[in-house]
Amino acid sequence: MNYGIINMNNFRSSALEEFSRHTAQRFSVENRAASEYFAVNVFNYEKMSKYLSKETFESLQSAIKEGEKIDRTLANDVAQGMKNWAMDMGATHYTHLFQPLTDSTAEKHEAFISIDKNGIPFEEFKGDALVQQEPDASSFPSGGMRSTFEARGYSAWDPSSPAFILDQTLCIPTVFVSYTGEALDMKVPHLKSLAALDKAATKIAKLFDEDVCRVGVNLGIEQEYFIVDQSLSRARPDLQICNRTLIGHTAAKDQQLEDHYFGAIPSRVTAFMKDFETEAYKLGILLKTRHNEVAPNQFECAPLFCEANLAVDHNQLLMILMKKVARRHSLKVIFHEKPFMGVNGSGKHCNWSIVTNKGKNLLSPGKTPGTNLQFLSFFVSVLKAVYEHHYLLMASTASLNNYYRLGGNEAPPAVMSIFIGSTLDKVLNDIEQIGSSDFADSSDTKLDIVGKIPEIRPDNTDRNRTSPFAFTGNRFEFRAVGSSVNVASSMFILNSIVAQQLNIFGDRVNKYIAEGIEKNSAILKVIREFIIESKDIRFEGNGYSQEWLDEAARRGLKGINNIPESYTAYLDPKSVSMFEELGVMSLRELKARREVLDETFTKKLQIEARVLSDLSVNHIIPTAIKYQNILIENVKGLKEILNTDDYNELTEYNIHNIKKISSYINGIRKGVHDLKEARKIANKIEDFTERSKVYADTVLPYMESIRVMADKLEMIIDDDLWPLPKYRELLFCR
Ligand code: ADP
Ligand code: MG
Repeated sequence: MNYGIINMNNFRSSALEEFSRHTAQRFSVENRAASEYFAVNVFNYEKMSKYLSKETFESLQSAIKEGEKIDRTLANDVAQGMKNWAMDMGATHYTHLFQPLTDSTAEKHEAFISIDKNGIPFEEFKGDALVQQEPDASSFPSGGMRSTFEARGYSAWDPSSPAFILDQTLCIPTVFVSYTGEALDMKVPHLKSLAALDKAATKIAKLFDEDVCRVGVNLGIEQEYFIVDQSLSRARPDLQICNRTLIGHTAAKDQQLEDHYFGAIPSRVTAFMKDFETEAYKLGILLKTRHNEVAPNQFECAPLFCEANLAVDHNQLLMILMKKVARRHSLKVIFHEKPFMGVNGSGKHCNWSIVTNKGKNLLSPGKTPGTNLQFLSFFVSVLKAVYEHHYLLMASTASLNNYYRLGGNEAPPAVMSIFIGSTLDKVLNDIEQIGSSDFADSSDTKLDIVGKIPEIRPDNTDRNRTSPFAFTGNRFEFRAVGSSVNVASSMFILNSIVAQQLNIFGDRVNKYIAEGIEKNSAILKVIREFIIESKDIRFEGNGYSQEWLDEAARRGLKGINNIPESYTAYLDPKSVSMFEELGVMSLRELKARREVLDETFTKKLQIEARVLSDLSVNHIIPTAIKYQNILIENVKGLKEILNTDDYNELTEYNIHNIKKISSYINGIRKGVHDLKEARKIANKIEDFTERSKVYADTVLPYMESIRVMADKLEMIIDDDLWPLPKYRELLFCR
């Protein structure tokens, strides 16, 4: 069999040869300053002003700003300008780019070229084509939403995220909804949650500044990833198909010496980074940082934060670019949360803050009691939101991939807590100490505590890397989110739960004001209540320790032990009423989402189980038999030339190994058989939730036990015969 460039008869050694050839190549990158070509491929403000009439430009800008509906005439005019620009840039096609419930993006290209009734060809792109397309929804996960209604799905233009050109195609960011208007994607709930948060937060911000009329979310997404040589990865069916190693003994050295984090970036990887950064800059993605991560061959990049909807689109696009560019460098980029056992997994840290239309970061402590009161109002609302919905928020990060990561090497545990740093911890404790009767009068002395909050600079906060959710000076950093996902799947929940608490906050303040309590005192009174009510979510210690897990259980914080079980959080009455009240998701949409999550979990595990069976039966067992036969021949030969005493003594080790190999072969065979039987039983279960639970309980454990035996064989068998590139090769060939 031939796997692309590699002859599979001897694929590990040819992969290693291929690797040496690629490392000898040098890649050139553009030598121009990034600012010279930044966003050249984006239909941004500057291009719009050039390609649209003044009137169209102004109407579009105001529609984007106010979130107004775009009428047909305006859409036609915008489409015309967009097409002219795209054609000037050499584009031949356009596509709606949407984010189905798969964590990746989907696109269907249409050519601009058309023909008139006289047979004369011309290029066209009408407003209708810009505003809406009708991709067949039946091939995307919908969680049963299409079976009861029509299979049709619509993608509709999201004017708040600018169109851009990729591979000579004009890409239009869109939402994806069913015939009946229900969300079939990640973008719709995210946009709705941003609107709900805007509404709730603006009301609270107005308590402090009447002029605030909008509140938005800023998001900075740190992306962790692994890089492996492409030819080596192609010689591993598990990496090729599942993006993770299903077997593989750890290398003698990996991250124990802590010499990779922030180390010198290997030059082949730097060339790759420069190349994808260049592509990202052209698309207006402002990548700021790059560095080695903790595990060997693990890296991270982060853009400058921007508006949340755009940040998500950029991250999705960035993953596409990185995959494309990696191929040019004969590398494979791995976004999987846990591609290698025993070393760190990858996450996507979401840095989240809220900001007014006047540019004020509401999570930034200020210099005066007034601004600090405002800061605390938002700050404690986030604490309370995460406390009230800690299980749901953690469940939003739960997936088969992340199951292998969370709670493992240096990854946050699957139970929620918030780290806020000692300074703020003290402030909150002090406020808690104010007697509740102190709020009866209207004097301002209690505000003294608030006035004493020192200015907290982001770089001043203590860093607690063990917390899944940390305050880092002017933003929260949610670290449990997996590296391969569309972060909108967690962000729509975060935005929603905070919106809900801000609404509660506002209601309580208004109630106290109505009872005659002075405004600032009423606000501080509610802050104090929120501090008390959410206290159990705060944890400043080591999140990786067993003591914390015990303590969390005592506090009633529910951790995730079983992935399908955690998906019940979406349908908890508390979650459903919150999403419905905010208008973010209906019960039907939540049910559908949960079904998709369960199905994805089952299908991924099914695929992994199949690949593992293939690896076991067609790669590992035949290799083990080959080596065992060599040992048998050796023992037989020794018998011919040695006397009985020498024979007994000198063949002891090989005979022991022959037996050991037999026992592992039998163990793996049995494991593969049991794995198949477990799947057969599970596959018969109709109910998708029940099925995914059975998969988690019965299929997963067999996979783990097969791995242990295969990894033992890797340590016994002649290196020359071993068919798969090993960890030391995958992680140290650069
Ligand atoms: P670290 O790895 O030290 O946490 P990085 O520099 O890798 O930090 O990433 C931090 C991310 O947080 C960047 O994307 C940055 O732009 C973003 N960020 C900084 N300030 C804010 C803010 N106020 N709101 C949201 N994101 C922010
Ligand atoms: Mg970072």
